[in-house]
Parts: sequence; C-alpha cells; structure tokens
Amino acid sequence: MRATSSGTHVSGAERIINDDHIIDVNKDLIQRALTSSILPDEICLTVDSVNIDSISYARSLNVKTILAPSSEYAFSKSKEILRTIGIPANIIQKAFDLLNSGTAPESKNMRGASIMDAPTGDRLESDNSRGVRVSRVDYTEEARKIVREKLKRNGIYHERVIDALAIATKVSGRIETIAELGWSDNPDYTTGYVSSRESGYVRITNMKEKGSVRGGRVFFVKTEGLNLNEYINYLERQPVIINRIGDIFPME
Ligand code: AMP
Repeated sequence: MRATSSGTHVSGAERIINDDHIIDVNKDLIQRALTSSILPDEICLTVDSVNIDSISYARSLNVKTILAPSSEYAFSKSKEILRTIGIPANIIQKAFDLLNSGTAPESKNMRGASIMDAPTGDRLESDNSRGVRVSRVDYTEEARKIVREKLKRNGIYHERVIDALAIATKVSGRIETIAELGWSDNPDYTTGYVSSRESGYVRITNMKEKGSVRGGRVFFVKTEGLNLNEYINYLERQPVIINRIGDIFPME
C-alpha cells in the first residue's frame, strides 16, 4: 500500500500473506492509510504473487533502546557501536553528513536507502535520487503478535518499530551487509537506529533534532565479493518472512 497527499508520501506498508487473507489485509492497509497523520488523497494497493519456494525465513534481530539525552550523545553512541563493528570514523561521519543534509539531489530525501562502501564511503546505488527500496519482508501472523506483545511489555511499542525491525532484519541477512544506520524523515519522530548482526537493532533516541525533515537509511557494505545487482535484487525482490522473534530488552 502506498498513500500520498498532493504527490507527497504519507504512508506505506506491505505484507506477505496467504491468498485467503487478501481481503482482510487490504482492509487493514486502507485503514492504516486513512488513519495516517495526514489524510491521503490517493491510496494505491498492489497485489502480486510470490513463489512459495523462493521464501526464506529469519529470526528478527535483538532489539535494544538507548536513551540519549541529546543528539550529540546519540551521535557519539552510534559512532561507538559502528566503530566496534569495524566502520572507520570518517565513513561514519560521511554517513551522518549525508543523512543530515538530504540523501537525494537538491537536499531532498530518497525514497530508498543509500548503499555505502564501508572502506571508502563511496555510494554504490545507481540511482541516488531513489535509492534502494527494501521490499518483500513480513512476519508470520504468530511472530507479528509476539513482537507486538514484547514491544508493549517493554514500553517501546509502535507499528513503525515493527516495520523498521523487519527491514533491518532482512538487510542484515546478507553477509555483505556490515551495518545499517538510519532515522525517520518524520519531523516528530526523532528515534533512530544502528543495526547489524553483531549489535542487533539498537534504537537510539534523539538521533536528530525535533522538527527536522531529514531522514534516510545507509547500508554499509563490504565490496569484497559483492555482486551489487544480486545484492540489490535480494533487498528488493527476495521474499523473507520472520517466523521467530529475537530478544527485546527494556530501555537502557
Ligand atoms: P521511515 O523510517 O519510514 O520514516 O523512513 C525514513 C527513510 O528511510 C525514508 O526517507 C527513506 O529514505 C528510507 N526508507 C524507508 N523505507 C525504506 C525501505 N523499505 N527501504 C529502504 N529505505 C527505506
């Protein structure tokens, strides 16, 4: 589902389901579009089929939340985690500068993510106004119920956490991905994250100043052995279903 208002993105979500749930799930998605902070003037629903044999299954990354008193603290914490994973300090700075200044030309935000070569900081996505859009990832019904309950129990429930965790889990599923950094472009949502197989999905509050419309995602990769087309094809086309939920920790 993709909802827009005067051509501007308002809400988006997707699901991988059995065909007997198509009507119910589409109702939920329309409901989600209609209850967005801005009422959309266009809602697009697309239904396409997925070959069941092409689906792979995953356990969601563990989730931690760090309470940062300021964006400076959030930056230093993110840097610390990314440094531990092996991203050089100047490349981390480059990724922050990119996300803070607008990932697309003319200081706009991309709809997708930037793929950054971790040793050099080069951007590898071919279209740097669109970026790479991670798609075809969902939870089983049972796993979605469990993740929602666990997040609620830890006081960090929000549907956007569920969606972002699914994306980060899929991205981390490829060995070429070293880490991921991102935050929302929504001016009211300032919690960002760093994620990787080693650190899990680490949410960090105050990653940007309230009111800022800057946001995006950077996937740090190693180019050694990387087949970029295959990697992008995995992110955009390979169906991944999360059927096990990792640990979810209370706020630190
Ligand atoms: P959001 O967290 O949904 O507010 O998205 C923040 C930013 O992350 C967007 O402006 C995009 O640049 C990027 N983004 C959102 N969804 C995806 C996705 N499915 N795949 C890749 N990048 C995304």
